[in-house]
Amino acid sequence: MKEIPMKECSFCGVKYDDNTRLLAGKNPDAYICESCIEAAFKIVSGDLDTGAKESGFDKELLTPKELKRVLDEFVIGQERAKKVFSVGVYNHYKRIFKQDIKDDDTEISKSNILLIGPTGSGKTLMAQTLARHLDVPIAICDATSLTEAGYVGEDVENILTRLFQAAEGDVKRCEQGIVFIDEIDKIARMSENRSITRDVSGEGVQQALLKIIEGSIVNIPPKGGRKHPNQEFIQIDTTNILFVCGGAFDGLEEIIKRRVGKNILGFNQDKRGKSEDSELLNLLEPDDLIHYGLIPELIGRLHVNAVLQNIGKADMIRILTEPKNAILKQYKKLFAIDDVTLTFESDALDAVAELAIKRRTGARGLRTIMEELMTDVMFELPDFKGYEIVITLDVVKGGEKPLFIKKNKKSA
Ligand code: ADP
Repeated sequence: MKEIPMKECSFCGVKYDDNTRLLAGKNPDAYICESCIEAAFKIVSGDLDTGAKESGFDKELLTPKELKRVLDEFVIGQERAKKVFSVGVYNHYKRIFKQDIKDDDTEISKSNILLIGPTGSGKTLMAQTLARHLDVPIAICDATSLTEAGYVGEDVENILTRLFQAAEGDVKRCEQGIVFIDEIDKIARMSENRSITRDVSGEGVQQALLKIIEGSIVNIPPKGGRKHPNQEFIQIDTTNILFVCGGAFDGLEEIIKRRVGKNILGFNQDKRGKSEDSELLNLLEPDDLIHYGLIPELIGRLHVNAVLQNIGKADMIRILTEPKNAILKQYKKLFAIDDVTLTFESDALDAVAELAIKRRTGARGLRTIMEELMTDVMFELPDFKGYEIVITLDVVKGGEKPLFIKKNKKSA
């Protein structure tokens, strides 16, 4: 039996049925539906946004200095890294939005960013801060959860699905977004230079990542999950997506030391002390990352490298108190709503900072410590309207009760 071909709109693909009328064209297979006629009419009469003014940003690019100033409001310390990151982000968006000033054949190649620094030092925070400020979507994911297609775990394409969702389904916005991939060092391949043994599949994941990082058209399942046939896909062009990779790279200093050490062997040896170890990362060269176990092609795509430092006590205290949404400011506000003034004595703040350093989770530990400290206080908070609650060193160190001081008789 011969199958009668289904009539459908040649523009949007809607099928002919009782509710959808189609207008036939001269070509026997050409049809247009009513809603496409309406849309076409609106476009011609200038009523409909034709997509010429695309979503994404049409605002002026911020300069590296302006970007750094934004970072300064939220990220404490890490001066060099903030500078490098600001320039990297600026160049990236300049490349996208100002590329039309082309008077020769020079094409600016894409530079993605590698942030090296201990956990909780502000790598994710930097990316989040600029994404929010630039109003571009951001997807944050963990390299350790990724696998090569066909293995148990998450497909690399799912990163893009997340970005697509962060862009609320707007393909154009998604294609100008930022992807932050944390723990990139954990997918390093095994290397004879390191004692850490890991899953060999690291290299496969790096290869899969490389494909999306270097810029390609990727089919993503808009709702995520595993790819399967008969599924609807959306095409995302990753050419203009900024990839920021972060990792602690434990042991990288050793690799640099070995390389540098060889060169300076024999002289100046005794002057190299411990403090120099922390500065070794500033001497980083791509080869060191290859020795660490990243594939050269991936390193070649991560041109911009910034190093973040361990957060010391003074900066821990600044993080608690200074940034726009500093943890202490947030608690003070929370308390003020109940008409309670929260005061932290300075040695109590010192102790919180020391505790965070001891836990080795970077500034991430601060929030947990504060939560632990404040839970009991907050439990009783509504009973202490009109009071000042003072957190002393003994509260932090000895688990004692804070001081409750009546602010003034009237409000008590
Ligand atoms: P990582 O370096 O592991 O990506 P994050 O950026 O996620 O660390 O930091 C975790 C949390 O710690 C942040 O949300 C922020 O509250 C705090 N933090 C870390 N580093 C800084 C910093 N340099 N300045 C201000 N806050 C910081």
